[in-house]
Amino acid sequence: MTIAIPDHPPEGPIRALGLLSGGLDSTLAVRLLQEQGIHVECVNFFTGFCVQSHTAAIRNPKPGAPPPRHDALHAAQALGVKLHMVDISEPYVEIVTNPRYGYGKNLNPCLDCKIFMVRKAWELKQELGFHFLFSGEVVGQRPMSQRKDTMPKVPREAGAEGWLLRPLSARILPPTEPERRGWVDRSRLMDFSGRNRKPQMALAEQFGIVDYPTPAGGCCFLTDENYSRRLQDLWQHRGEKRYTLDDIFLLKAGRHLRPAPHFKLIVGRDASENNFLAGFRQGRTAIRAPNLPGPLALLEGSADDADLELACRIVARFGKGRNRSEVEMDTETAGASRRLRVRPLAAEDIPPDWYL
Ligand code: SF4
Repeated sequence: MTIAIPDHPPEGPIRALGLLSGGLDSTLAVRLLQEQGIHVECVNFFTGFCVQSHTAAIRNPKPGAPPPRHDALHAAQALGVKLHMVDISEPYVEIVTNPRYGYGKNLNPCLDCKIFMVRKAWELKQELGFHFLFSGEVVGQRPMSQRKDTMPKVPREAGAEGWLLRPLSARILPPTEPERRGWVDRSRLMDFSGRNRKPQMALAEQFGIVDYPTPAGGCCFLTDENYSRRLQDLWQHRGEKRYTLDDIFLLKAGRHLRPAPHFKLIVGRDASENNFLAGFRQGRTAIRAPNLPGPLALLEGSADDADLELACRIVARFGKGRNRSEVEMDTETAGASRRLRVRPLAAEDIPPDWYL
């Protein structure tokens, strides 16, 4: 017996749930479906590693720079779609620490990450009664998760095979269920591939979209070489591949130095970062010059008197008293304060391999 596949779902408009980063690609994917009269809502996942506005919010903005914004929220507002924001940071730890398909160039487990996010989006789709999922992925744009051979793997392993539409590359990919059922007109979708951004920019112009973030930097800190080195260092010196949200937020701010295996320093680079670090003093030693402008630093690990003196000398090197023969430095551990007089280290006395 052949079961007829209906042209349309039984009732109401077609409803699609998209994964929205707020970048140009996911924005265009939304617009392509809206053009076809499809009701679109989006989901954005919080992993703790999102670049988004974090760096801009932590550091002092450049004079005249626009205030930091949340790209996905901004895009959702501009597109007129509802945004579901879902915190997946807790189960995501397992994806980062134990990825089945391994890491990319840095500690980015892109394939596992995509599979996990599509699985979570699929659960939301089922719960909220959407007809299919879509994303702004483009064939060949990223080396790990957006290759022609790995793209089908994502929905298959996420339990959503046939139900994840990629509107920007749809015409060079096998038809998905919403296309086969006539819910989406495949001929009005795109055939983009590769890393060339010009077709997307031309389509953006066609849609009158001018305000979108630059694609540089990837969608999360895990693609960043320096950040990955700091995370690797954290795991190595803890003796286990685990992290908390505090850990991964702190890796985003300040200079990080490890003068010895048993302790490291996080040194604020401007007033804004100092304020940010001040919120993380608990469980760490805070170091600061009491009478001179300079950074707030946090010491993580265990430090004896000699370590503390060395730490103060390093922190003093980044403050206004760096050229003095001696400066006072305050340290505070669990509410207990000490004042030390130290000689600031010279720049050349800090070996390059202390910097993480
Ligand atoms: S860059 Fe980060 S968020 Fe994007 S797919 Fe890779 S691991 Fe996931």
